[in-house]
Amino acid sequence: MKLKSISLHWQILIGLILGVLLAILSKIFHFEDFVIQDISLLGTFFIRALKMIIVPLIVSSIISGVTNIGDAEHFGRLSLKTLLYYLTTSIFAILTGLILVNLIAPGVSANLSFQETPGGFENAATSFKDLILRIIPENPIASMAKGEILPTIFFSLLFGFFITRSPEPYKKQLTGFFQSVFEVMMGLTHFIILFAPLGVFALIAKIIAQTGFDAVLPLLKYMITVILGLLIHATITLPLLIYFLGGISPLKHFKAMSAALLTAFSTSSSSATLPLTMDSIENNAGVSNKVSSFVLPLGATINMDGTALYECVAAMFIAQVYGIDLSFVQQMIVVITALLASVGAAGIPMAGLVMITIILKAVGLPLEGIGMILAVDRILDMLRTSVNVWSDSCGAVLIARSEGENKLAVLKGKEL
Ligand code: ASP
Repeated sequence: MKLKSISLHWQILIGLILGVLLAILSKIFHFEDFVIQDISLLGTFFIRALKMIIVPLIVSSIISGVTNIGDAEHFGRLSLKTLLYYLTTSIFAILTGLILVNLIAPGVSANLSFQETPGGFENAATSFKDLILRIIPENPIASMAKGEILPTIFFSLLFGFFITRSPEPYKKQLTGFFQSVFEVMMGLTHFIILFAPLGVFALIAKIIAQTGFDAVLPLLKYMITVILGLLIHATITLPLLIYFLGGISPLKHFKAMSAALLTAFSTSSSSATLPLTMDSIENNAGVSNKVSSFVLPLGATINMDGTALYECVAAMFIAQVYGIDLSFVQQMIVVITALLASVGAAGIPMAGLVMITIILKAVGLPLEGIGMILAVDRILDMLRTSVNVWSDSCGAVLIARSEGENKLAVLKGKEL
């Protein structure tokens, strides 16, 4: 069988399995260093290539998307629906986590030794206000150069909107220009995605060769709680939502998104996965650029259901280990701050871990608690990132459907 005839998600899955096998072999035959230092280069190439296209892809996709939307009323309605979806699903996720962590109580009588306490966490909590402020860039070009996603989105939205308000011939020229840039960026994205199987292979091999499975045991109950919550949210809550509200087949949608989900899993980064998410949602799920270019870049940055759930469970777990009983009001504070923390977390590896400080500070728990969960964070990060991307994609099809897009490839009763 020629490689080309195997579809991308199978190629990625094969890459992932081979990566795991290589890491296990490297541990048995002691060549971990070769995997960590040399094989991992393939993964670094892949991530760098993805990062290379994020900013131009976001800018061109948002501007061409907004100019497609056209009128202000339509734009307002789309924003409202998108934010409502983000808010509702994140709160569902957090409540799922809260219920599970209270039922399973993974931290009660846990016998844990502290891992090293990471530095730099003290400043993270104060930076949240900063983060909101920084949505408005002082200099949009500088923000783009630094890869700051939220200010880039903010500027692109405004820029696109005012293109639609400008007189002819400028409106037509600029609309055509950004549409053309976007087409080129999608072509480039397509090309880079061809290397995903290799990238995923190397990234997984490196992570497992580096972390191993030793740290998992003492934290098993905590991990099970997070994983169970993520599973419930991803396989029950969100599928029910898209099935009943949008008439979308969750299985078809999952199939359409599988390459993006596997990439999210191995990169632990919603932002780096964004090019694949956009590609899959437009080419496999059939969502228009008008909807996806608005919902997805924003979603990759602020809609993180998996992270929200994880924030809540981790903070409650730390409280349980310290033997601190949080009152109902305090637990509600955990819920709200978990939501804020997930919005504030960047779409990069381990961003969620840093944001837990916001919750710990809000309810008066020691920041050192983070040191306990550090060892297994990477594994949970892979899973929560996949859930983050999955939720963004569910939002995109649901909103596309509510905007009257009836030709989606993922509708139930339709052949994919
Ligand atoms: N890695 C996650 C993401 O990119 C964020 C997190 O650390 O929770 O979606």
